[in-house]
Amino acid sequence: MDCPHCHQPLSAIEIETADGHTHSIEECLNCGGHFIEPYLANFFTIETARNIDSIIPKIQAVPATNPICPKCGQGMPGIKDDSVPETVTVFTCPNHHGDFFPKEQLFLFKEAQQSKIYYHKLWGIPLKSAFAVLIPILVIFSLATLLPSILEQINSPQETRVKASEILTSPLITPISSTQVLISFSTQKPAKTSVKFTEGLSKTLIGSQVLTTTHLVSVEGLAPGTLYKYVIIIDSNGKPVTTSEYTFSTP
Ligand SMILES: [Zn+2]
Ligand SMILES: [Zn+2]
Repeated sequence: MDCPHCHQPLSAIEIETADGHTHSIEECLNCGGHFIEPYLANFFTIETARNIDSIIPKIQAVPATNPICPKCGQGMPGIKDDSVPETVTVFTCPNHHGDFFPKEQLFLFKEAQQSKIYYHKLWGIPLKSAFAVLIPILVIFSLATLLPSILEQINSPQETRVKASEILTSPLITPISSTQVLISFSTQKPAKTSVKFTEGLSKTLIGSQVLTTTHLVSVEGLAPGTLYKYVIIIDSNGKPVTTSEYTFSTP
C-alpha cells in the first residue's frame, strides 16, 4: 500500500487500543502520516497517539495534493463534522476503507476528543450524540432497539458463555456524563454484537449490525451513581454466544 499523500510505501506498525487489543495501522516514514482502519482511531489512548505521531518524517512539508485511498484509489475528502475540530485535518475514504491523519493530526484529534469528553463529564452535559466525539463510521448503532431473536440466547448453557468471554477483550467504559456512557470493545473475529442489560436497565442495545471487530454502544438515560450490569451477545457465525456479566457505575 502507498501513502495517500506522498505515495511512498506505507509500513505496518502494531498498536494497542485503550481496550488492550492489538491492531495494525499503516505509517508513512516519508511524510509521517498514518492510514488507519475506519473508526479505530476512536479507541486509541492519547498516549498511543502521541507516541505514533512522534515519528520524525523524512520530508517536513506535507504534499498539497488531495489524498488518495490506497485501497480503492478514490479521493479522500476531509472530515467536516462535530467530531473533528476545524483546526485538525482528517481525511476519510468515501468507501470506508480508512482514515488518513497527516503528521501531528492524530494526536491533535485525540487531544480534542479527550478535552470534549472531559468538558461534558465535568459539566454533566450529555453529548447530543456519540458522533460528537467519534469519527464517523459505517455502522450506525441505534439506541434502545430490542432484538427478540437474540434475547432467547440469554438462556444458553454456561459452556457457551465461557467461550464468548474468550473471544472478547474487556469492554472499555467511557463516561460522557452521569447519565451517558460509551461501551466499546473488540472481538477477535468480525461479529455482530449487542449489549443486554441485566441490572439497572431492561433493554438490549445494538453494538454492530454488520460483521466488524470493533464495537460501540452509546447508553443514554442512565441514573447518576448507579451500578449497571450487562452481558454482550456476539454473533460471528449465526450462532450467538453470550459473555459473562460485566459491570460499571455511573459517576
Ligand atoms: Zn506519506
Ligand atoms: Zn477506499
